[in-house]
Amino acid sequence: MKNLPEIRLRETTQNNEEINNVNLKTLNKIRKHKIGGVPDFIQSSFFPKCPKCNEEMLSYGQLDSVDGEMILGDDGMIYVFVCKHCLKTKSFCQYH
Ligand SMILES: [Zn+2]
Repeated sequence: MKNLPEIRLRETTQNNEEINNVNLKTLNKIRKHKIGGVPDFIQSSFFPKCPKCNEEMLSYGQLDSVDGEMILGDDGMIYVFVCKHCLKTKSFCQYH
């Protein structure tokens, strides 16, 4: 299945101040939030089938852990998929 074009997302503070490269270095990791593209699976690749029509679902995006208050398991990631035919969605989390 053809992927959506990849759009990387940048973290900002609540006041819309962009977290700059200096701050990212202090976080020890560049977060991988994005829309589209190929999922950066932490564990094995998994492309779910639509629960309604059984077609392979399109990777819509991924949401990385957020430092501090929202570390998912051991630095996990949430993956979101959508069926282009029925618009059913599916998400799951993988972690180290
Ligand atoms: Zn479907």
